[in-house]
Amino acid sequence: MREYELTFDDHEPIGVPLLAVPSDGAIYVDLRIEAVAQGVLATSKISADAIGECTRCLDPVTFDIDETFQELFLYQVDYRQKPKGKEIEVGDEDELLEMEGDFINLDGPIRDALVLNLPVNPLCSEDCEGLCPTCGVKWALLPEDHAHGAADIRWAGLTDWKGPNS
Ligand SMILES: [Zn+2]
Ligand SMILES: [Zn+2]
Repeated sequence: MREYELTFDDHEPIGVPLLAVPSDGAIYVDLRIEAVAQGVLATSKISADAIGECTRCLDPVTFDIDETFQELFLYQVDYRQKPKGKEIEVGDEDELLEMEGDFINLDGPIRDALVLNLPVNPLCSEDCEGLCPTCGVKWALLPEDHAHGAADIRWAGLTDWKGPNS
């Protein structure tokens, strides 16, 4: 068994359109590699910060990613000929990854761990009320009775009135 602590901070942005780990955002990977009969078992904890915008009010949003994954990489040779080490339960072999010679490619598993649990519609807070559609100011910053006159035609005649002293 071997353990690695890796940090990647120079990569393409990884995420969904509204929320992503920026290209210089650190991705921390705690990795444990174990030899098993069929190949190599990789167990990993991944953490990173995705940043983006609240879909309702456009305020900046930071989302903590903390995920784990486990992947079995099969030896390219037919391991069933000479099993050694403990054999672990595997599911559908078609879905398993294969080693590439002495290498395992963790690009896909790391990417999936980062992306698959990101919210598609990130919010600054669960109860964010968003923006007033007319003036674009956050509802949270506006008085409770904030309104625009457009819907109220009864006052339209006052638009040009300058006040009692004019
Ligand atoms: Zn918001
Ligand atoms: Zn408004």
